[in-house]
Amino acid sequence: MRAVIHVSGIVQGVGFRPFIYRLASARGLNGYVLNKGDAGVEIVVEGERDDIDDFLEAMHREAPPLASIETSDVTWETGERHDGFEIRRSSQQRGGGASIVPPDVSICDDCISEMQDSDDRRHRYFFTTCTNCGPRYTTITGLPYDRPQTTMDAFPMCERCRKEYTDPGDRRYHAQTIACPDCGPQVSLQNSDGTAMETGAMAIRRAGVLLMEGAIIAVKGNGGFHLACSAAMPSAIERLREGLGRPRKPFALMAADLDMARDVAHVDEREQELLASAVRPIMLLRKRRQLPGVSPGLHTVGVMLPYTGLHVMLLESCSEPLVMTSANMPGEPILYRNKEALDRLDGIADFFVTYDRRIAHRCDDSVVRVVNGSAALIRRSRGYVPTPVSAAATSHDVLALGPELDVTSCVLSGGRAYLSPYIGNVSRPATQDFLERETEHLLGLTGATPEAVAHDLHPGFATTKMAGRYADEHDVPAVAVQHHHAHVAKVMAEHRIGETIGIAIDGIGYGSDGSMWGGEVLHCRLDGFTRVGHLEMQPMVGGDLATRYPLRMLAGVLHDAAGFADFLRKHAAMFPHGMQEIEVVLRQAANERGVQTSSCGRVLDATAALLDVCHRRHYEGEPAMLLESHARQGAAFDITPEISWDAPAVLHTSPLFRWLWQHRDEDSHDLASTAEAYLAGGLADIAISYAHQEHVDVVALAGGCAYNEHISRVISASLERAGLRCIRNRLVPAGDGGISYGQAVVADARLG
Ligand SMILES: [Zn+2]
Ligand SMILES: [Zn+2]
Repeated sequence: MRAVIHVSGIVQGVGFRPFIYRLASARGLNGYVLNKGDAGVEIVVEGERDDIDDFLEAMHREAPPLASIETSDVTWETGERHDGFEIRRSSQQRGGGASIVPPDVSICDDCISEMQDSDDRRHRYFFTTCTNCGPRYTTITGLPYDRPQTTMDAFPMCERCRKEYTDPGDRRYHAQTIACPDCGPQVSLQNSDGTAMETGAMAIRRAGVLLMEGAIIAVKGNGGFHLACSAAMPSAIERLREGLGRPRKPFALMAADLDMARDVAHVDEREQELLASAVRPIMLLRKRRQLPGVSPGLHTVGVMLPYTGLHVMLLESCSEPLVMTSANMPGEPILYRNKEALDRLDGIADFFVTYDRRIAHRCDDSVVRVVNGSAALIRRSRGYVPTPVSAAATSHDVLALGPELDVTSCVLSGGRAYLSPYIGNVSRPATQDFLERETEHLLGLTGATPEAVAHDLHPGFATTKMAGRYADEHDVPAVAVQHHHAHVAKVMAEHRIGETIGIAIDGIGYGSDGSMWGGEVLHCRLDGFTRVGHLEMQPMVGGDLATRYPLRMLAGVLHDAAGFADFLRKHAAMFPHGMQEIEVVLRQAANERGVQTSSCGRVLDATAALLDVCHRRHYEGEPAMLLESHARQGAAFDITPEISWDAPAVLHTSPLFRWLWQHRDEDSHDLASTAEAYLAGGLADIAISYAHQEHVDVVALAGGCAYNEHISRVISASLERAGLRCIRNRLVPAGDGGISYGQAVVADARLG
């Protein structure tokens, strides 16, 4: 018998063909296996029917760890034509290749065992990888994905590596990053002028000792540099914060293993699974032990496990977890070139652990949090990119460039969405260049020819201007997509839903009427929406300053409340210009002119200010995040949300602030919880009313505030009680990191 088998799914670049070779050879079957690009893998096997059946069963049962079979179609034929079994060289063309480029994969257990085995030739070799693990996306310079098109081309294989590379029975058969101490990259420990102090395994061991003594060391990873110091040495953390100009932003930790992770944080089953997965994201976990300076004021701490050989070796010499934070200047992308790192980190890092292999593409660590039992991506980058996300209902090639903060770009092609790595805040030229470069790369990998370029409605965003240039150059339409419509659309696309009521809650996005939105209930289709409800518009006293100083936001609401002026004066130290500034703020607030916003984030910020939880924002989302941590220990008072039901409906926030003000002697944890419950309950009420009116049974929840466990729990519980299903993002971030995907699907729908 002869069986022709077509397999689709993640079956390329993951050791699937040698696996098939071994299965077929072991059963004495003849034939071949061939990569067919986007069409998956074609297998032909000839032999006894029983042996082929057994082969098919084993193919599903024993598939390599990184492979995932989506479909397998078998056609039976008679006759036998082949002698032996071979892996046929694939003919890959340009384009349609992004699904062949795998994401970076954390080091596997087999490789770790070899590194720890003193008889193995890769004993204590920092760049040990195999077909099942190692950097991928970050090494690739072009297609097809083959050694000469990676940054490994600078390291000709030694004879022993070549033998492994060409032996279908070997774990390193066609492992493009194959290397050994004889032929591969070399690591060194350098001081701040770039002089090597140690090389090889000793360099890493010495770095570990220096870290435990209080040093700050720049460590080159697969997608860029980290800055590391001991998580148990507040003085080193303080020095790192000063050097980076990041006084409060939480730092992520790297723990040697699960035990060390459990020592600093609570890890439940789901979190453990994600923490130890091949992606090895930073998991936001609930703190168990206070590590001063690591994530000030928050109940969570970001923890990841080692994901390269270098990390494994480094952590072996550390008795405490390490702070491991991306090495970048505020507002700029992660540093990834040796020379650039030495120059820019001079004065911040005491030493450098670096190696002589280039990084082709930057890629920051991904960040995941389990929110009410399910995983929510906060940052989708290393380990995920460039794996596509389904966009099954789309039919055009579209490019989308995202908003301004937490930017990713997205290329839609062939019913799939390819998102770039995390780019960040694109207000600076360096980050804009990074966005352009990664977007070009994605377009090259996918071979897409965009029929439209989607961007945010905000006319001033760098991404809006970039989209305009692209549209002119390629003679395609630029499609403006409202920020919160994009938020809801990305949930709809993920869940393949054509119509929904969406609750989009975040900081600030440019509204269709030119005002600042951020607490929205929208009746959405993919190609358009109606604003059916929103939070009360509140003044932002001093415009953008109200974002950095939440007391200004609070003054906008409470300026005429009895005793409020005195409250503000007591906080003179929180204003850069003290008393003088306060009088100006009070005058401006009474004036009631200027910018207004329906932002949910700003209401949470103002609540944090009222409860003395946070008076100054040092990083995006800080007051709201501190408020969430504060509210966890409290129980909400039951107060009924005030809603006016004229279209669009308005959830009034002034009555909430007046209530909080009158009850400010109550326990502040309870008050924090009350504010969250009020917003969540009110928004849910509006969504429920319109869902019933429009005969829609699903409500989408999105935006940065959807990560708040309490808010998200109250909303989904209210919806469920009303017989509605609450859907959320699983595959892309609920926050702005997923906006480009939403923009792309909206533009696709508008193209018709
Ligand atoms: Zn491996
Ligand atoms: Zn070698």
